[in-house]
Formats: sequence, structure tokens, C-alpha cells
Amino acid sequence: MTQQFGEFTASELYCPKCRRAQPVREKLLLVLPSGELHEYLCARCATSLGERTVTSSPVPSRPSVAPPTALRTRRFLK
Ligand SMILES: [Zn+2]
Repeated sequence: MTQQFGEFTASELYCPKCRRAQPVREKLLLVLPSGELHEYLCARCATSLGERTVTSSPVPSRPSVAPPTALRTRRFLK
């Protein structure tokens, strides 16, 4: 029954206060330069069940992979 929710990100978490898995409410805690800090609250008793940092658009601080433009430049030089 609960397996179908497995692909969702923390749609239900075990609440120690309710002593059972409960639907969670996601609450935005902080907006960081690296992402957003969300908190999961029990939908029933509002106990904090966990936190998650959401990085929707990571800042490309250092290039780990060669961008496509490098290939074009290389080809252009050749
Ligand atoms: Zn609860």
C-alpha cells in the first residue's frame, strides 16, 4: 500500500509522536546561496521530521566538465 509512494520525495515519514508514518508538510526554512532549506513537518501534529536542502540551480563555481564551447574553439583553432 505504501510502496506506491516510494518514488516521491518524503511524502510520508515516520512520526515518533504519532508513532506511525504520517504525511508531511514541506516548509521553507531558509533560502541559501547554494539552495533552499526545507523542513518536513508532520501534517497531523507539526513535529519536525527532517530537513532537506534543495539545490534547484547549482552555481557553476568551477567547471568539472568541458563545456561544448571548448570543443568548438578547439575545432576552430585546428
Ligand atoms: Zn505526528
